[in-house]
Amino acid sequence: QCKHKFMAYIGYYNESMTKQLVIEQEIMNDAQKALDNEEFEVYLQPKTIIHTEECYGAEALVRWIHPEKGMISPGKFIPVFESNGFIGRLDYYMWDHTCKLLRNWIDEGLEPDPVSVNVSRANMYNPNLVFMLKSLLDKYDLPARFLQLELTESAFMDEPDMMIQKVQELQEIGFVILMDDFGSGYSSLNTLKDIPVDVLKVDMKFLGNGDGDGKSERILASVVRMAAWLNLVVIVEGVETKEQRDFLEGIGCEYAQGFYYARPMPWREYEAILKNMEIRHHVDGKQSDDNI
Ligand code: C2E
Ligand code: MG
Ligand code: MG
Ligand code: MG
Repeated sequence: QCKHKFMAYIGYYNESMTKQLVIEQEIMNDAQKALDNEEFEVYLQPKTIIHTEECYGAEALVRWIHPEKGMISPGKFIPVFESNGFIGRLDYYMWDHTCKLLRNWIDEGLEPDPVSVNVSRANMYNPNLVFMLKSLLDKYDLPARFLQLELTESAFMDEPDMMIQKVQELQEIGFVILMDDFGSGYSSLNTLKDIPVDVLKVDMKFLGNGDGDGKSERILASVVRMAAWLNLVVIVEGVETKEQRDFLEGIGCEYAQGFYYARPMPWREYEAILKNMEIRHHVDGKQSDDNI
């Protein structure tokens, strides 16, 4: 009924625009309910130390487990949430749930490595951002080093002065700041000069697939070297093959994230990995105390 009214209202658009708008409208109709019913799930994708193949923490990625439509990937709904402001609430939900997981793991003695969460561009302009994050740490009595923040590269462009200040405030609290999607289109060397991030997450598009002239690989090698000079940690995203992994090791890249190692998984599966590592520690008779 409601949908038909909506269709009539936008009847003068062409059909594909209509469809797109209907999809967006459906997403928004369901969104608040989904938040209330906890239909959004924290998936975790491990990060790997390339040289040793050890897992070092993870990135939290949202998945919408819709009661009728099944799993919806963020590519479908994040852009809609970004355009109408709902993204702020989703971000907070993900941060809160991630902090809760970390708190539980610490309490269970699992000695978790840090988990990074995504901060949408809109939230970078939220004057309450620093306060909200600080309050979450207080709520879960969580040291800031456990929760790392991924800020997308594009957010750094419009108001660099504001961003510099935000990043510094967050670092003062103890957060590690990652620049996400580095090289995907907006970054400039100037950004790196001025904005004090700790980690570059290099966009997967530089990985190439062996069929080009090797230019992207050479750019990637240069980025890794430059990052070392700037005292920045580099994580390359989207590593899918052994060849890519070997290439990264060859150019001295330390961390990777990608399907070659692990896909994003429900948090319970990641928790099972942590429990396994804990068992190994006890069997080996050694405790890893370097990250607590
Ligand atoms: P992102 O933050 O750059 O996350 C990395 C994306 O790359 C994830 O897609 C991940 O599944 C995908 N990926 C990882 N390894 C590989 C690989 O080897 N090959 C390929 N082809 N893809 C790989 P996902 O989960 O679909 O998320 C897409 C984007 O949606 C994210 O990009 C992020 O910008 C946004 N997003 C996801 N979860 C959240 C969230 O909780 N809050 C906010 N604000 N944004 C989120
Ligand atoms: Mg990210
Ligand atoms: Mg990324
Ligand atoms: Mg990306």
